[in-house]
Amino acid sequence: MRITMIGSGYVGLVSGACFADFGHEVVCVDKDERKIAMLQAGEMPIYEPGLAELVARNVAQKRLSFTTELAPAVAQAEAVFIGVGTPSRRGDGHADLTYVYAAAREIAHAMEGFTVIVTKSTVPVGTGDEVERIIREERPDADFAVVSNPEFLREGAAISDFKRPDRIVIGIEDERAREPMIQAYRPLHLNHSPMLFTGRRTAELTKYAGNAFLATKITFINEIADLCEKVGANVQDVARGIGLDNRIGSKFLHAGPGFGGSCFPKDTLALIKTAQDNDAPIRIVETVAAVNDTRKRAMGRKVVKACGGDVHGKRIAILGLTFKPNTDDMRDSPAIAIIRTLQDMGARVTAYDPEGIEQARQVLDDVTYADDPYSCTEGADALVIVTEWDAFRALDLGRMKALMKAPVLVDLRNIYRADDVAALGFSYTSVGR
Ligand code: NAD
Repeated sequence: MRITMIGSGYVGLVSGACFADFGHEVVCVDKDERKIAMLQAGEMPIYEPGLAELVARNVAQKRLSFTTELAPAVAQAEAVFIGVGTPSRRGDGHADLTYVYAAAREIAHAMEGFTVIVTKSTVPVGTGDEVERIIREERPDADFAVVSNPEFLREGAAISDFKRPDRIVIGIEDERAREPMIQAYRPLHLNHSPMLFTGRRTAELTKYAGNAFLATKITFINEIADLCEKVGANVQDVARGIGLDNRIGSKFLHAGPGFGGSCFPKDTLALIKTAQDNDAPIRIVETVAAVNDTRKRAMGRKVVKACGGDVHGKRIAILGLTFKPNTDDMRDSPAIAIIRTLQDMGARVTAYDPEGIEQARQVLDDVTYADDPYSCTEGADALVIVTEWDAFRALDLGRMKALMKAPVLVDLRNIYRADDVAALGFSYTSVGR
């Protein structure tokens, strides 16, 4: 099958490379000339485990190519996937659909013959209707079907998530789109991955409902963690105690500094707006967003408290900048708010992250970046673990303590055991324990 992917970011590039690996002929398009030049030169514009090998293999077998030229790529495609960004709109927090609609217009003018146009970007309910309307307006003669196929992959595990999904959700309004969609996902269809066909609006809403539910689960355990701290309980034991109940499940019950990343913050906000606009406000998600928003700065204050209530002139070492491990993505990472809070209170910040430093430089000012965890910690008044990279799970804490000015450790991911750390002579603060 000939597939064209519009947008070659975290979702477009991974999905495009995986479709090529399924045996399809895939062209990935992006407006960003630097990104496409890198990809054409065999370099990855993002960090995602296994991606470089997957791309190289499919490029070598001539199933995957990259271009900035949308028109020829769309003209020859049977299915065109839209995987462009849908960030929060400045001012009101609704999803900014500018890129999606611009792509739809460009596709309209370029497509030839019956074409399935698939929105893979996360888009509010009704966006598929509008994409269809735009294309019909631009090209009244065009023969096409618009499908919603939201993506559920997680950064850091994107390839295995795409190739072994819990489910594939496909929203169609035109039956002619069903067979091409089954064809696109044929290997997964043969493997009996659940393929859920729904109406287009249902598919669009399913993505937001899923993300909002997960964000709620995280926020729930974070608030339980706060209560644990007040009453002398241990949130990890509480999480295990409730998570073993199959109705609850153990995943997404890790207390921490609040959710971040390129999806949960913007998608909860967009769902809140959609719900309000439709006179069906979802109060629980409104609360989740508000609670999470205040939590990040609260984590900064937690560090200040661990430092004795004053960080003026002190040097704080931060380990982990990305919103989660195994990605270089800094979008809405809790580290941003935590670092800014510390800087606002007069601290100097040194930071280390295995993959996120390049992106961090673009969003954070006045941070000194270290080359490894140990040089980061040298001379610090406190060490703060913000992201639970594997490399931080087995640090030589004795060596770190010797390098530090004061033995203060704030573990916002609960990756160490209080007894072990206290035995080394650290003053140790974690979350909900
Ligand atoms: P991204 O910012 O990494 O990539 C988007 C790309 O689209 C950019 O490279 C941009 O240059 C390109 N682009 C924009 N307009 C274009 C146009 N008209 N023609 C060609 N290229 C164009 O974004 P992302 O993280 O890949 O997210 C894309 C969508 O997928 C969003 O809606 C997001 O919510 C959703 N999503 C993301 C994830 C994730 O983990 N990142 C997971 C599931 C769903």
